[in-house]
Amino acid sequence: MSENKDQKFVYDFTEGNRDLKDLLGGKGANLAEMTNLGLPVPPGFTITTEACKVYLESGAEPAALRDEVSSHLDALERKMGKKLGQADDPLLVSVRSGAKFSMPGMMDTVLNIGLSDSSVEGLSRQSGDERFAWDSYRRLIQMFGKTVLGVDGELFEEALEEAKDAKGVTIDTDLEAADLKELVERFKGIVASEAGRAFPQDPREQMDLAIKAVFDSWNGDRAKLYRRQERIPHDLGTAVNVCSMVFGNLGPDSGTGVAFTRDPATGHQGVYGDYLQNAQGEDVVAGIRNTVPLADLESIDKASYDQLMGIMETLENHYKDLCDIEFTIERGQLWMLQTRVGKRTAAAAFRIATQLVDQGLIDEAEALQRVNGAQLAQLMFPRFTEAAQVEKVARGIAASPGAAVGKAVFDSYTAVKWSRSGEKVILIRRETNPDDLDGMIAAEGILTSRGGKTSHAAVVARGMGKTCVCGAEELEVDTKRRRMTVPGGHVVEEGDVVSIDGSTGKVYLGEVPVVPSPVVEYFEGRMHAGADDADELVQAVHRIMAYADRVRRLRVRANADNAEDASRARRFGAQGIGLCRTEHMFLGDRRQYVERLILADTDAERDEALKALLPLQKQDFVELFESMDGLPVTVRLLDPPLHEFLPDITELSVRVALAEARKEPHENELRLLQAVHRLHEQNPMLGLRGVRLGLVIPGLFTMQVRAIAEAAAQRVEAKGDPRAEIMIPLVGTVQELELVRDEAEQVIAEVQAETGVELKLALGTMIELPRAAVTAGQIAECAEFFSFGTNDLTQTVWGFSRDDVEASFFTAYLEKGIFGVSPFETIDKDGVGALVRSAVEAGRATRPDIKLGVCGEHGGDPESVHFFHEVGLDYVSCSPFRIPVARLEAGRAAARSSDSDSR
Ligand code: ADP
Ligand code: MG
Ligand code: MG
Repeated sequence: MSENKDQKFVYDFTEGNRDLKDLLGGKGANLAEMTNLGLPVPPGFTITTEACKVYLESGAEPAALRDEVSSHLDALERKMGKKLGQADDPLLVSVRSGAKFSMPGMMDTVLNIGLSDSSVEGLSRQSGDERFAWDSYRRLIQMFGKTVLGVDGELFEEALEEAKDAKGVTIDTDLEAADLKELVERFKGIVASEAGRAFPQDPREQMDLAIKAVFDSWNGDRAKLYRRQERIPHDLGTAVNVCSMVFGNLGPDSGTGVAFTRDPATGHQGVYGDYLQNAQGEDVVAGIRNTVPLADLESIDKASYDQLMGIMETLENHYKDLCDIEFTIERGQLWMLQTRVGKRTAAAAFRIATQLVDQGLIDEAEALQRVNGAQLAQLMFPRFTEAAQVEKVARGIAASPGAAVGKAVFDSYTAVKWSRSGEKVILIRRETNPDDLDGMIAAEGILTSRGGKTSHAAVVARGMGKTCVCGAEELEVDTKRRRMTVPGGHVVEEGDVVSIDGSTGKVYLGEVPVVPSPVVEYFEGRMHAGADDADELVQAVHRIMAYADRVRRLRVRANADNAEDASRARRFGAQGIGLCRTEHMFLGDRRQYVERLILADTDAERDEALKALLPLQKQDFVELFESMDGLPVTVRLLDPPLHEFLPDITELSVRVALAEARKEPHENELRLLQAVHRLHEQNPMLGLRGVRLGLVIPGLFTMQVRAIAEAAAQRVEAKGDPRAEIMIPLVGTVQELELVRDEAEQVIAEVQAETGVELKLALGTMIELPRAAVTAGQIAECAEFFSFGTNDLTQTVWGFSRDDVEASFFTAYLEKGIFGVSPFETIDKDGVGALVRSAVEAGRATRPDIKLGVCGEHGGDPESVHFFHEVGLDYVSCSPFRIPVARLEAGRAAARSSDSDSR
């Protein structure tokens, strides 16, 4: 960041507004907005994030900053009619950090800057309250010592406790001026001995040191960790707010409080907040004394209460959203110290969005922007019953949502062993590593005491869709002794039941009963939005989904392999099947036919195996087409390498060796072993699979095509409306597709002739190899549709296989910031996405009416759905459970882009 001569680094509160969050931070922008609304905000100014960036890059404040701060301070002093730290009547200020996003780990606010040994006397005389003046001074030294000079805050707390003990009182307000004077001396001593310097008496030096400390806190460890976890860029910098002090600690007619314009848990309008008399700053949330509900303020100070209610209404109407606020009352005069659009639960987000529509504050398109797919997904997980009064024992990071209950196990081996014998287990580790993979697969959920959202446990659990709470630091996990100690000392032994909530990060002892989500009950059709017992949440979700469906352009299909999944998908709003995998149709009892197919020495043997498979496959398709009657069903021909249908190579080798040792060799097993050896691949991802199988195993694909065609014919005869689409996987070149296509067309013609039914079967391909994407224009000559297989496309573009890399090095990559998010979770727009984009263009250039969709897991990922909308796909396909999320995000994408079109 180079310094620009005309750059302005300081803005008075009257100069900013809420759109300047990048420059003024969230707090500064909103203080300015409130000032401009004419609300009572104590005057002040904001130092920009640009100044912070210069400081962070060059190690020094921009040259112009000092003068600019001086002139703004001058103006402030003139406005207030007193000077910073002036001995007889001091102006005091707070120095407050405030980045664009609020961030734990940033420097705490320092209040009462400007007090010194001399000005404390002036404050005392001016206020007529000696106790207040010395209380303010001791607070300054405490906050300044801790946050600016880095002194251990405990030392001040201990000294305060001792002072109270010595006097035989329990609360801070019972300390009198003389006690506080003494405490100030002790505090100054602590600073001198711990910080190696005296507490600065020069008010301007206090202010400048505090400003610099805010800048420095941007790069504190906690702030950095938080940014990494929340994917906040590291180069935004923080703003610093300098705000003239108002005092809530001037006696019982003063106080401080926090409030919400509506309930952040339900969205209901009402009076929500806490108030504390005779208190300053964080006292109200720090729990030093008992607060009263905000409603009680009405009887304490009616005038201020009424004014506050009016301001809250003004703010809601202005921000058109739930706001949270901080305020202080100084001797009956109300002051606004902060506001922002408040955080809320997922359920409240949906309710508030519809409430605001009903109030006429926002329209439906805006309502769609107020919620998101991640929140909807959260509402769809089964949850722990609130009624079951089980106490939480710890809280970690909500790393992968869901509610999981099971017996505690502390190693992967036990997890696998117990789960094999039918036990549900929770794998508890300090942190996980690739060796824990089997245990993670076997467990219901994963709990760790270390690591954040990008830790191994979190990344792998999310990839597996498994519940995970990580970084629950209050837990002491002792894997050697197979136990963990929870706060308070209780010990959880191996086998004890624990419950973890991956949506909230909460950890419980014992079994918490799980109930299905009402939102899923609604999607399943078991609860109607109009019914009496439908709760507000279900009604709100119903309405928002209707908005989304009305505006979205993308259609949403399901990845479903059987009639049951297909029916659920349809209930959830699927408009067809985008991917029906046929491999499961070769497993179970049918595996024997696949073995015979592979072992066949003669054409006759092979034909026999295929003949046995045909009616089974056909029946699968009949059921599927029936459940999706009238909607498209894309059937993918066999994709995985054949060895996946054969016994495990080691097991089989052992069996054969033992049989030989007993001198009773088994002919068939020997042949099988040879076949397994022949088909064994080091890297099956890149081997004999997909279209390659279809081309080298005679009759395999034609059998599948015949099964599809016959099933479709049967459905037509039953007066159904089957809309099958045949999809060829792993095509790399148009020649492959041509060969398969010729054969398929021949089979379809035969079936038409045999049944007398005219069939309209579309034939298309997956685009999941870079070569296919690059030659999409040629491939489109032979394909009526493309379905982007973005899982394989991600693997092949990056040159890694998901199963290997998620467990081995993704954590390191995420930590180093090489990815912000796993490319398997959210599509890598610049790489994989660029190929999708160009293949879309090339495909349409060759065949303007080509149908384009995506069937990788990205089809259900919010951010990816927006990308697919933008590149102009016709549909996304995802697992049945993700369909509502995809519908919602497709609606949000459409509403957003029509929004920007009209701008
Ligand atoms: P945070 O970002 O943690 O909310 P704030 O800057 O809002 O930090 O300040 C911490 C506390 O001090 C809040 O309760 C706030 O209302 C209070 N506070 C900040 N500035 C002033 C001021 N000028 N006068 C009185 N109280 C203040
Ligand atoms: Mg605040
Ligand atoms: Mg694939």
